[in-house]
This record gives sequence, structure tokens and C-alpha cells, in this order.
Amino acid sequence: MAIKREGEVILMDCGEGVQRRVLSESLGLGSDMSILITHLHGDHVTGLLGLLQTMSLAQRRKPLNVVGPEKLLKWLEVTAELLHIGLTFPIQFSAAKPGVVLRTGAFRVRAARANHSIQAFSYVVEELGRPGVFYPEKAKALKVPEGKLWSRLQKGRSVILKGRRIEPLEVTGPPRPGRKIGYSGDTRPSAGLARFFSGSDLLIFDSTFKDVDREKAIERKHSTSLEAASLAKKARARQLALTHFSARYNNISSLVREARRVFPNTIAAADGLSVEVAYPE
Ligand SMILES: [Zn+2]
Ligand SMILES: [Zn+2]
Repeated sequence: MAIKREGEVILMDCGEGVQRRVLSESLGLGSDMSILITHLHGDHVTGLLGLLQTMSLAQRRKPLNVVGPEKLLKWLEVTAELLHIGLTFPIQFSAAKPGVVLRTGAFRVRAARANHSIQAFSYVVEELGRPGVFYPEKAKALKVPEGKLWSRLQKGRSVILKGRRIEPLEVTGPPRPGRKIGYSGDTRPSAGLARFFSGSDLLIFDSTFKDVDREKAIERKHSTSLEAASLAKKARARQLALTHFSARYNNISSLVREARRVFPNTIAAADGLSVEVAYPE
């Protein structure tokens, strides 16, 4: 899964073959990228090494942000040494822990503990707020000449005009909130996670099992589609994307139907699916 915003990319977990997707989706081997790893199960992490190698072959220089469980760094270091992999770029690693784990140009990333069979984390990626709507009539009334000064004000910065300071709020509406995307990783649902994901514009949640197989979900520390939907409802999310389906189901449309009974705005995540996340009203 990748969040793409202007030049910035945030990858969430790296299953096998992730590098092929990074190439086919033109995410850029040299791009401004951060990688969030939820936990150290193979289906979430084995693709990372190949991706790092391919980035090195492409002579990446830019540092790469990586957030994940503490042991992830150890795994990378040991494997890189054993396989004689020399990276052409630095990794800026942050060990995941509850709270803010990463700040980038456009986003703030927070982590919370998930409830899985090994140490695991969930993440929310929050876009930094945007300045308010710009009112040209107000700028004209204040005799601010169109051009550079307008664009400064539109970006939420003040300008000095003939010795007078004009604040952006004199010509714009109040600042608008950014978008929020939540990703559960593998987990049981919990009240804590419902709070953590509150107000997500898009929530991507573990939906390994159907609700008839809830016992298995409890035993293996995953969620059912119905549980994902109930949590999305509690969190007042705007859209839910179910993911991580068990291979036992030939057809996942029944999982989606089950979830929609509780949370209508539900879709199933799929390879190559692209979702545009609109700004909140
Ligand atoms: Zn797992
Ligand atoms: Zn998994």
C-alpha cells in the first residue's frame, strides 16, 4: 500500500514483490519516500530487502525513512552484512512506539500498539493542515497587488505592504484540516484502536476472516470483516478498505457485503486499486 501526494510517497508494509509495484506504479526508486512496517511477519516485510537493493542499483542517494519494530533494523543490518549488500543511501530508522514516529514535509505519522500474535503497530498518516480558502475580493480591498504577495497569503504566510503587516486570516477563511489515513496492519479490533483511528478519511483494516470464522480470528489475532466495519463505525471513519483476506475464501464479495451491513462505505482493497482521498468537508 502506498500513499502518494505530490512528490512524496509513504509505503505501508512491504510484502514480497513490492519493488515490482514500486516500478509499475511509478512511485520512483529515488523519490521522497518513507516506509512504515507494522510487524515482522514475512508477508509484511520480506519485500523490503529487494526494494532496498533495487534502490541501490538505481544509485539512490536520498535518505530513506523507515519506521518499524526495533528488531527490523537488526534484521536489515544482519542480512545486509551476510549478503554483502552495500546501500548507496542512508536509512533513517525510527523504532515504532505509541505516539508520533515520523514527520515529513507533508505528513505526521503516529503509531499505536496493535493486538497481534507478535509485537505489532498500527499507523495513522495525517496530512498537515492547509491554509483557508483565499478571497481575492478581500485582498483587492486591502490593495494587495496580485502576484507574489497573493500566493504568499494563499500559503498562509503574512506579507508586509507599505510598512503594514497583513495576516493571511485577513484574506482567507480559517485553516482547513488535512486528510487522515489509518492502517491497522494485522490485529484484533479494540476500543483503543477505534479512538486511534477516529475521523480517518480512509481506514484500511485487517479483514482476514468472515464473521462465521470469528473463533479463528480470535485465535490467530486477526479481525473479521464485520469487526472491521464495527470499528470503522465507532471511529466515524469516512471510508473503509478491507484487506489481508484469508486465501480460504474464493470470493471476497461476501466479506464486503457483511461489512456493508454495518458500514456502507466499504470497499475491498485489491492489487492495483487506486483510491482518491477527498478533503473532509
Ligand atoms: Zn501477522
Ligand atoms: Zn499478515
